[in-house]
Parts: sequence; C-alpha cells; structure tokens
Amino acid sequence: MALDYEWFQQMEERIPKGEVRTRFAPSPTGYMHVGNLRTALYTWLIARHAGGKFLLRIEDTDQTRKVEGAVEVIDRTLAQCGLDHDEGPDVGGPVGPYIQTQRQELYGKYAELLLERGGAYRCFCEKTDEAEVHGAALGKNALKHECPYRNISREASDALAAQGKPYVIRQKIEPGVTSFDDVIFGKITVDNSDLDEGVMVKSDGLPTYNFANVIDDHLMGITHVVRGNEYLASAPKYNLLYQAFGWEVPTYIHCAPVMRDEQHKMSKRHGDPSYEDLLAEGYLSQAIVNYVALLGWSPEGEEEIFSLEELVKVFDISRISKSPAIFDKDKLTHFNEVYLRAMTPEDFAAVAEPYIRQSVHEPDIDPAKVATTLQARCKVLTDIPAQVDFYDRLPPYDLDLFVNKKSKSTMESALELLQAVLPRFREVKAWEPEEIKTAMTALAEELGVKNAKVMWPVRIALAGKTVTPGGAPEIAWILGKNRALARLEKAVQRLKAVE
Ligand code: GLU
Repeated sequence: MALDYEWFQQMEERIPKGEVRTRFAPSPTGYMHVGNLRTALYTWLIARHAGGKFLLRIEDTDQTRKVEGAVEVIDRTLAQCGLDHDEGPDVGGPVGPYIQTQRQELYGKYAELLLERGGAYRCFCEKTDEAEVHGAALGKNALKHECPYRNISREASDALAAQGKPYVIRQKIEPGVTSFDDVIFGKITVDNSDLDEGVMVKSDGLPTYNFANVIDDHLMGITHVVRGNEYLASAPKYNLLYQAFGWEVPTYIHCAPVMRDEQHKMSKRHGDPSYEDLLAEGYLSQAIVNYVALLGWSPEGEEEIFSLEELVKVFDISRISKSPAIFDKDKLTHFNEVYLRAMTPEDFAAVAEPYIRQSVHEPDIDPAKVATTLQARCKVLTDIPAQVDFYDRLPPYDLDLFVNKKSKSTMESALELLQAVLPRFREVKAWEPEEIKTAMTALAEELGVKNAKVMWPVRIALAGKTVTPGGAPEIAWILGKNRALARLEKAVQRLKAVE
C-alpha cells in the first residue's frame, strides 16, 4: 500500500509549536481517584505556570474497561476543581479529535508508516494473548515474543495481509541500549533485550495504549508528559517509537504513587475515597485540591496553604518527589478546617445550608443564622446535621444535664435561674444575640452569680444537650423568641415536677 506522505506532512503542520502543551489522558474506567486527580492537577499546573495549553484526551481504546458515565465524572471533577482545559472533546481544538476511538483511522496509517520505517512488523501468529497486551502496557508479564514472521520480507508480509490472514502489529526492537531522561527519576538506561516487542495494533485494528499514547502525544504537540511511574518501565519502548518515526521526545515526568499506607497504593476496590467520595464526606473542593498538590510535591517554604492561583505561581516540577506519598485523611481534615474558617460568612453559609437543612426543616429558622455558630467549629461539612438537630425538635433530655460542677449549676439553681430568666427574655425588645446575652449577664450580676451559672441551664433548656455549636444567647436568637420561651417554660415545668 502506497503511503500518502502528503497527508503525514499535513498532520505535522497542524501541530502547534513554541508553547508548553500538556495533556490529561484518563481512561474512562469509572471514577477519579486521588492519584488521577493529582496527575491532572500537576499536568494543569505545568501548563498554566508556563502560560501554555492544557488538553483533555479520553483514552478509551480498551473498550472492555469502559464504564458508562465515566467521562462525565472526569469532566465534572476537572470543572469543580477549576482545572479548565483549552482543548478537548467538548471544546475541540486544532489537533482533534480528542477521543481515541475517534482517531482509529489515524493509528492505522501511522502503523503503516512504522512498518515502512522498520519500527514494526506484522505478526500472523494465531495466539495473541490479551494478557500480553495489558501486561506489556504496564511492563508486567512482558512475554518475550519470538515470532516466525518477524524477519520475513516486506513483500511476503504484504502478501499474507492481502490474503486476509489476521495479524497484529508488533514493535520491532533491535539489539542495543536505550536511554531516556525523566525529570524525577533522572537518566534511565535499559538493555533492549529486556524490552518485549509488544503489540501496537491489535487484530481488531484498535491500537494498544503503548502505541496510541506516542502517536497522540506527538500529533497533539505535547511537550510534557505527566503520568504514574507504573509507565516508567515502558518509557524506553516509547522512546524507540519516537526514534523510529524521527520525532522529538517529550519531557517525561513520572510520578511516584499515592499510597494508603507504606505498603498499599490507594485503590477504589479497597474502599479508598475518590474525589467525589471526599466531597460527599464533607470536604471542600479547594481543600482537596490544595492537599492533593502536596501529595508528592513540596513548596519551597513552610507555607502549605495555597489557592489554585498561588499554586500556578509557585509550582515547580523540580520539587516533585521520587518517593511515594501517603494520603493522610487527618491532614486533609486539617486543610478543610483552615479553608472553612477562612471563608466569608456568606460563602460559608452557602456551603453549609444544604447540610443544615438536612436536619433543620422549620422554615422560620434561618440557616444563615445557624451557620454563624458553625463556621468556627466544623471540621467537615457532614459534621453539621447532627450538631444542629435540636433546632427542629428538642430532644428528650435527662434533667441531670442541668447539673454541672464547673458552672456551679444544680437542679435547684437551674429552676430558680430559668424562672428568673423568663421575664427578662420576654422584655428583650430587639431579639439579637447581644441583647439576649445582656439580659442574662445583667441578671447574673444582680444575683451575684457567675455568668456560667445562668448560661448553663438556659443552654440545656434550649438545646437539650451539653455540647452545642453556639452558646445560649445564639441558640435563643436562632430559635426565635417564642420557641425559646416555650423551651424554657417546658424546662421549668419538668424541674418543678421533680421537686
Ligand atoms: N490512559 C492512561 C491512564 O489512565 C494515561 C497514561 C498517560 O497519561 O500517559 O492511566
């Protein structure tokens, strides 16, 4: 088959030059785990730091691993994290299409070109083990394939293909050594005899990852390839492909994995959370992104809290670590607290409202008021519903809760003080926390008792709990005057009944 060199030339001419171009190339296998998100983030940061372009490419050639809805999860995650792309399946771009199954025709042509250039051969062997295809992609179980068709003439190979004999196309690797540079792992040299002549194009015409990634990265003008170090072992083979085509090799950045503990990689199968799981657990997207940035990268100084814009400024690939990073939920929680505290009250109220409304349904209780008591206290948003469940309905509480040593509160003092507070509350004109508080502290002063002795029983009467977000004045304010008075009266009745 004559090759259309003009077409290849046109493909070369489409490639944008003179800018940093990176890509996130997920396989749509179901969800964005923390490691995927980190790869996406670093890839995006490299592009944005350099004022370059960030591409999204969907690697869906392995249809057996494809999961319905997975692309939506990827799109949603990138958008929520603020990782916008300049080119991709949805926005298009100069080197599309950006979905591998839509590029199939193109891989066939490049496979022909590779055959022509001596970098590949047709293998007509009957048994082509699927496991080999996968194994080769990960550098595992790499079977050394000794193929009787490897060295047959081009004419003989063409003739067999023309007869319709099924074949796969394998990479041809000649003896020698191959070296390549990785930003993180340095110069790596391997003996070519350790590399298997893996399948580039399967018998169904679909390319393997090992072939498609090289073609796509070249044709999309990718300058920096960021991916997990499970691909490190295959990188020499990619180099040989670039060499066979006469193409420039991109900068490689292979990142060490994100681990659950010293021994185990994070994995969905073992219950480790994905990005969306973390959101559902009540973590803020910004906190997750900030924390994930530090899983394997360290900034120069002590400061660890960075907005996405700040990360763009300070991110530097030379500070990516060689050693695996351990995902530490407590540390993420700490980041989350820092982000929650730093929000404006309005922003906090907006994110907290859905959680407040999970347990506070009374329409006249204002979630924004409830939020004011929570911002300094909650660690994750999912803490909220259980903390504010007393607003709708006073829980059945034990009268012993009125007894508290530190506040010098006893059942007797509680009854006496609640009876004294009631008229003071009725007199409060502007039902605001400050006014309510003043009514209580003025009473304490007149009676010559500590404020706590008044606050304690009021809080118990209003919330039915000893620990609440917000103190007695705030809770009374949020409940509203009528509800607050009713709860105090109820406590008085109950305390009287035990006398
Ligand atoms: N599709 C590959 C994956 O999801 C991408 C590897 C790469 O970035 O080259 O693991």
